[in-house]
Amino acid sequence: MAADESAREAPIPPGSTIGILGGGQLGRMLALAARPLGYRIAILDPDPACPAAAVADRQFVAGYGDRTAALDLAAASDVVTYELEHVSAEAVAAIQAIRPVRPGLFALATTQDRLAERRFVASLGIPTAPWREVRTREEVGAATAELGAPLRLKVAIGGYDGRSQARIGQSGDLDSAWAALAGAAEPAGLLLERELDFSAEISVVIARDLAGRMAAYPVTRNRHDSGILIESAAPAPGPRSLAPAAVAIAERIATGLDAVGVVTVELFVLQDGSLAVNEIAPRVHNSGHWTIEGARTSQFEQHVRAICGLPLGSVEPLTPGAAMVNLLGTGPNRPAALEGLEQALRDPGVSVHLYDKRWVFERRKMGHVTVIADSLGEASRRARTAAARLRWAASDPSAPAKEGRTT
Ligand code: ADP
Ligand code: MG
Repeated sequence: MAADESAREAPIPPGSTIGILGGGQLGRMLALAARPLGYRIAILDPDPACPAAAVADRQFVAGYGDRTAALDLAAASDVVTYELEHVSAEAVAAIQAIRPVRPGLFALATTQDRLAERRFVASLGIPTAPWREVRTREEVGAATAELGAPLRLKVAIGGYDGRSQARIGQSGDLDSAWAALAGAAEPAGLLLERELDFSAEISVVIARDLAGRMAAYPVTRNRHDSGILIESAAPAPGPRSLAPAAVAIAERIATGLDAVGVVTVELFVLQDGSLAVNEIAPRVHNSGHWTIEGARTSQFEQHVRAICGLPLGSVEPLTPGAAMVNLLGTGPNRPAALEGLEQALRDPGVSVHLYDKRWVFERRKMGHVTVIADSLGEASRRARTAAARLRWAASDPSAPAKEGRTT
């Protein structure tokens, strides 16, 4: 705390080093945004060829739970942040004793555990899908009877991109859902919640500075395929009341988490127009990638500003519409070779971002395409057209065996 208090008095100056736990695409884009402001970057990631490696000044090659390596990263940094919530809260607690950690330990610990997150959201009186904490097959059965199918059973800790969750449709699915996730029931517990019949999924990317001031980007509409984000568009269409209601929820959450930095809140818009929180990420988010081209300040620069104690930048969108389409991997695990870039770039307004992942496999997030335009429809159409032109070259049968990374 002492380190954090003193940092409140003066910004962390350019030339200082930002330490990032995690070196995936979010870390890469954070590093790229920190550079123009003159900051240096150190990352901790187990993969020496991770997406952020090429743009970091320094890398500590170690697992996200490695306390010693986390402390080495902290010692080499002036402020520490994280680009994924699956880093060890224990390691972050150790870092916090010597360096400011932002958005913060409480924000991390709360959002890395779906059950803690649900308790937190409930404590604020903000709606979510009806849910129960379950640990045994019997508890799943009893809660299923109470809540009523269809339901989603999710691991409390560690799931992402729709992984580690199972649907309970008819009663027959109960055994297969339990069988799929029983291994994660202890010690963390499982979240069982009702599947909501939503009309749309939206998210709010909001930044909160050291003084508690907040700035939210235009609300983004998100489309998922089997739990993984495929497309985001902003501003989300809907009634005029939608964005203020969503932003008000995000403000209460960011404040309740006492977060410093970017926080993302995923919400469902229900058929009656009301909102329910799905998930919170204490970090920059895939649904905010459009801000790189589409807003005056990108979510990445905004996060850097917030954690360094600088004033927040403008969240104003530059055009009436922005759309981002994810480039997901297809096929078996193999060395990644992109085809179709020239065709995709034939539209001169298309921005292609590639994460420099050396290996591609089905549904891996490999990059994204953004288009900003005079309308949401046009941005969406052109981004989809460009993304459809990009594909991953077929396997080379002589390629070596797969690598271990899964995100
Ligand atoms: P992840 O951490 O993998 O993003 P989420 O809980 O956000 O996990 O689930 C991924 C997606 O699955 C959501 O964006 C949504 O499309 C769908 N989903 C998850 N929970 C529910 C639910 N209770 N009702 C309806 N759809 C859901
Ligand atoms: Mg999610």
